[in-house]
Amino acid sequence: MKDKLRDAIKNWNYDELRKFEKEIGMGGREVKKIIWEKMQELDNSTKFCTTCFAELEPYDASYTLIFGPEGFKKKASFCAVDCLQYFLSHIRDMEKVKRKTRSKNDANR
Ligand SMILES: [Zn+2]
Repeated sequence: MKDKLRDAIKNWNYDELRKFEKEIGMGGREVKKIIWEKMQELDNSTKFCTTCFAELEPYDASYTLIFGPEGFKKKASFCAVDCLQYFLSHIRDMEKVKRKTRSKNDANR
């Protein structure tokens, strides 16, 4: 990880490094956003079924869901209705856990 980062910034000049350091010092919002976008790009694959990881034929992603808040849209593709249904039931459980955690955190404030 350290080597990859070193490799990525090896051609930056002093001014760029200084700006980057300042950005991290202020919480690194821009850096986090760039990392998040890259993660989304890798995650938002229409090449594999989100549930069973079966490879999907190009242009044949039978079912694709796009969800999430504006600017943080997530894309999930499925090979069949079964996989889509499984994902949807799973997402309901994830929402329940999220809500529980949130209300617990509120209670601790
Ligand atoms: Zn599938």
